[in-house]
Amino acid sequence: MKYPFHIERTEVSRLKNIDFSNLPFGKYYGDHMFVAESRRGRWMDCRIIPFGNIPFSPASSAIHYGQIIFEGMKAFKNPEGEPMLFRPEMNWKRFNVSAERMAMPQVPHELFHDALNELVYMDQDWIPTEKGYSLYLRPFMFATDRFIGVRPTELFKFIIITSPSGLYYPKPVKVVTFQKYVRAFPGGVGFAKAAGNYGASMLPLKEAMDAGFDQVLWTDGYEHKYIEEIGTMNVFFVIDNVAITPSLDGTILDGVTRDSVIQLFKQYGMKVEERRLSIDEVMEANKKGLLQDAFGSGTAAGISPISHISHKGATIELPPAAGRKYWLRLRDDLDGIKNGTIPDRYGWCMKVKSQILAEVLE
Ligand SMILES: *Cc1c(COP(=O)(O)O)cnc(C)c1O
Repeated sequence: MKYPFHIERTEVSRLKNIDFSNLPFGKYYGDHMFVAESRRGRWMDCRIIPFGNIPFSPASSAIHYGQIIFEGMKAFKNPEGEPMLFRPEMNWKRFNVSAERMAMPQVPHELFHDALNELVYMDQDWIPTEKGYSLYLRPFMFATDRFIGVRPTELFKFIIITSPSGLYYPKPVKVVTFQKYVRAFPGGVGFAKAAGNYGASMLPLKEAMDAGFDQVLWTDGYEHKYIEEIGTMNVFFVIDNVAITPSLDGTILDGVTRDSVIQLFKQYGMKVEERRLSIDEVMEANKKGLLQDAFGSGTAAGISPISHISHKGATIELPPAAGRKYWLRLRDDLDGIKNGTIPDRYGWCMKVKSQILAEVLE
């Protein structure tokens, strides 16, 4: 292996303390984590160690200036009980797109791949097998230079932690638009999974929740007219039998689930449009009875039906989610591809393979 791993196993697994029939999103963490360091562009010191606190300088650029990026992906088990990943190459590519935008080093494919595979292999007993549950994987990178000036930095940590989790939004979501806040704007970092995007969305989210909604339906930063995404999900509408999702224009996160949904819609023989879609068009379609479905798509949340959309004081309620066929079919197909009841014709599911641990754990 190009990147040698040091492995330190936990003395006492916490696995038996976890109630696997009740796993709120992001509450529990697996026994181990992966940690590597980059110094002046060279990756070194790769370790799988017990999950725990890590020391870093209080002067690090991550803490002061938000030089932090992350990914979100999931491990699950196939019918044979083997650990699997869903389209991990897409997350690796996107991680590096985010890294580039934030002036951070690229993570070579081999490092990302080996880190994920060895870690998931090691903690494979943490992968829940109940329907809708999985082991959420959170790779992230941040700057660790001990220097408080604003300048591109040279020291970084790349870490992966894991969390056995249920679904993020167990119920259909109520979304609201804002005229006073924007998530992203042209030339900004909306297309990157950069931490600051999410920090900046907490206040709008809090206001939305205080007003009885679950998530913000983000609109564009110029006119507040065109739909972008929902919270941490991409968004789809089915209007008059056409599936529509906002086009990727630099302000929208290029979701792995979004891409999978587009491929499935095409496979169903449906017309898919990636284009600018105004909130007025959606409200109008609803008035005419042409709005057949609306849902968010993301790794954490899966396919999340939208129940209400509120815009400038007017709220529309969609037909009950249980009777809407599009999101249901997509959810069932995505689940089916993962659990092996539907053929994986696109080769989305990858078996977790270990080079090091397979020997160590024998
Ligand atoms: C992660 C994320 C998504 C969904 O991407 P997936 O790859 O499908 O998980 C959508 N929007 C935002 C803002 C995100 O951070």
